[in-house]
Amino acid sequence: MIYLLSGAPGAGKGTQSDMLVEHLGFRKMSTGDALRDCAKEATELGARVAAIMNKGEFVADDLLFDIVAAGLDKFAREHGNGGNSGDAPLKVVLDGYPRNINQAEALSSLSDKYPVMRYVLLQIDHEHSISRAVGRVICGACRAIYHRDTNPPQQENRCDGCGGQLVQRGDDVRASLEKRLTIYKRETEPLIAYYRERDKLAEVNADRSVEQVFADIKELVLQDA
Ligand code: AMP
Repeated sequence: MIYLLSGAPGAGKGTQSDMLVEHLGFRKMSTGDALRDCAKEATELGARVAAIMNKGEFVADDLLFDIVAAGLDKFAREHGNGGNSGDAPLKVVLDGYPRNINQAEALSSLSDKYPVMRYVLLQIDHEHSISRAVGRVICGACRAIYHRDTNPPQQENRCDGCGGQLVQRGDDVRASLEKRLTIYKRETEPLIAYYRERDKLAEVNADRSVEQVFADIKELVLQDA
């Protein structure tokens, strides 16, 4: 079963997905992380993806669908039994997918194998979204997420967990963020109505601490179990 985590940049999709992995046995797929890996490759596709991401625009739906479908199949193989049977069903959190109606329709074509349980919308106010994303730094090795002011590492620029170097994302700069927020409103917000109509929408106030937000998400997951 699939949980979708959605929200504006800085809403905490990555952090909350990591907590679902750590505390509730989820597998996580972040389309942003998958694309950042792709962008690092010295290939024509890598260069194209990097350019799109740095402008704050969306990468093509077809490529995203291939990434997500392949990732889900990999999780299912690793889980065994096609991911659906047994005592502990496969639980996957998708961080950052779908981001528009076309992607939601593509995902629903996989619903026999991978049914969506919830579309969890992390709601955050505009300025808070920008300040969270602008201050965000990420471990280049293990991808742990920090914030320069609200969740700084113990040692400057070093990951507390693995000692890796912390880096700022190329798209976490104001110009790119304003663009991402505009695209978010235009492309992603229609998904709220889409999942509400299908009775999957869960809205969570994300203008709170990581722990408070996670407590609400955890309650949802436990209700569904
Ligand atoms: P994120 O790490 O989720 O903030 O995503 C970073 C960037 O990756 C986005 O601004 C897009 O350029 C790209 N991206 C991630 N997920 C998607 C998606 N589902 N559709 C299109 N582009 C995406």
